[in-house]
Amino acid sequence: MPSGLDARVLVLNRNYMAIRVVGARRAFRLLYKDRAEVVSQHDESWGTYDFSSWVELSQARHRFRDEAGDWIRTVNLTIRVPKIIRLLLFDRMPRRTVKFNRRNIFARDDNRCQYCGRRFPTSELTLDHILPRSRGGQSTWTNLVCACTRCNIRKGGRRPEEAGMKLTRRPYQPKTSPTLQLRITSPKYESWKHFVDEAYWSVPLQP
Ligand SMILES: [Zn+2]
Repeated sequence: MPSGLDARVLVLNRNYMAIRVVGARRAFRLLYKDRAEVVSQHDESWGTYDFSSWVELSQARHRFRDEAGDWIRTVNLTIRVPKIIRLLLFDRMPRRTVKFNRRNIFARDDNRCQYCGRRFPTSELTLDHILPRSRGGQSTWTNLVCACTRCNIRKGGRRPEEAGMKLTRRPYQPKTSPTLQLRITSPKYESWKHFVDEAYWSVPLQP
C-alpha cells in the first residue's frame, strides 16, 4: 500500500478558490495548527471539519473498514488524507501566471529537446539560453528551452543560427500550468473539479 504521505491536497483560500497544491504533510501541519479546515464531500453534500473532527471521522470510517482513499498511520492514529483543505486565516488570490522554474519549462517543452525534437528523461536534459548568457541573454520564458546534452554541446556559446541549428518551435510563456493539467486527469482527484473552473488552471505547482 503506497504511503498516504505521497498524496496531493488542493488548497483553497477562504473564498473557496483554488490557490495551490501541497503534499499531505504540509496539509496536516496547516490543519493541526488550525490554519485550515478539511473540505470533504460525502454522498452529495459537502462538509467542513477541523482537525479533531476529521480525526474522529477518520477513526469511525476506519472502524467500519471504509478505507477508500489515502491514509497515514501514526503510533496512535489512523487518519485519512483529505483531498481538499481551506485556509482560514489569509485571503490569498490565485496567481494568474505560471511560476517560472525548471520544472515548468520542462513541462512546457514536454521534456523534448527543442533542437532535435527528441524526448528525454529530465535527468538527461539541460536548459539552454537561446541567446547565450555571455551575449546578454537572460533567463526568461522566451530565452530558455530544453536541450539534450548533445545539442547543447553542439550549440556551445553560439546563437542557434550560428551553429546551423533550428528551434522546433518558438518558446512562449505558458498561461496555464501544464503539470497540473496532467494531474486532474487522475480520477483520484476528481473532487477538485468542484473548485477549479478557470482559476484552477492557473494554480502554480509547488516546486
Ligand atoms: Zn537534442
